[in-house]
Amino acid sequence: MSLPDHHPTPLLKDWIHQIAFITSAARCSDLEISAVAEIAIAGRSNAGKSSALNCICGRRRLAFSSKTPGRTQLINLFGLRLQDSEIGRLVDLPGYGYTAVDRTTKSRWQMELSRFLEIRDSLVGLMLVMDVRHPFGPLDIQMLQWFGRRSRPIHILLTKADKLGRQEQARTLAAARKTIGDNASQWGGQLSVSLFSATTRQGREEALAKIAEWWGIDEKKHPTSDSSGGNA
Ligand code: GDP
Repeated sequence: MSLPDHHPTPLLKDWIHQIAFITSAARCSDLEISAVAEIAIAGRSNAGKSSALNCICGRRRLAFSSKTPGRTQLINLFGLRLQDSEIGRLVDLPGYGYTAVDRTTKSRWQMELSRFLEIRDSLVGLMLVMDVRHPFGPLDIQMLQWFGRRSRPIHILLTKADKLGRQEQARTLAAARKTIGDNASQWGGQLSVSLFSATTRQGREEALAKIAEWWGIDEKKHPTSDSSGGNA
């Protein structure tokens, strides 16, 4: 996956808003094979996934809250193009742990999701959104284990960070870093974590730097790039 070389790559933060909805699918198996690098975005219902996605992409209603009726169980695919080339895709997975869903539907969905995460070739990374106040729930851990088997990178967004004071943010981030360090071998070994807030836009550039890296965009090519990374 590479970008056209004949022009400087603009900084992703300056054009990610051009990302466009491609399609929705009820089942993972309905998604066509993709030649474009895909990043899966997942999280427990209500964790703040759609707010994070909208904030990262600089769009107000690109992704819909799991509270929006009818949107709960759909996979939504978004793609970003630069001139004639499709640069990368975001695969917005349905929020999990939604209590209103019956047990059979839940377990069927879990099987499908685990298979998707384990076999879809085009997935270059997983962005896992967790509420900073309730990180690493059982279903989050399951996602980390499923995708961890791929040995591909996972970035955790601890969102709603604005709900915590500075000291608590730092404590939670340190604890999360320890958790991913302790479980690195089970979770694929390429883990990073950052604080995020859709309300204050804290952590947006860090999340964008990950996306750029996974899509293979070399932001350093840009003469005014000041992106410093800074992930765990
Ligand atoms: P989703 O179900 O994971 O897509 O979660 P939503 O993005 O719909 O967010 C769930 C709730 O949390 C909504 O009421 C949001 O307004 C709120 N929320 C989401 N992100 C943030 C955040 O960064 N800060 C605060 N304070 N609230 C947030």
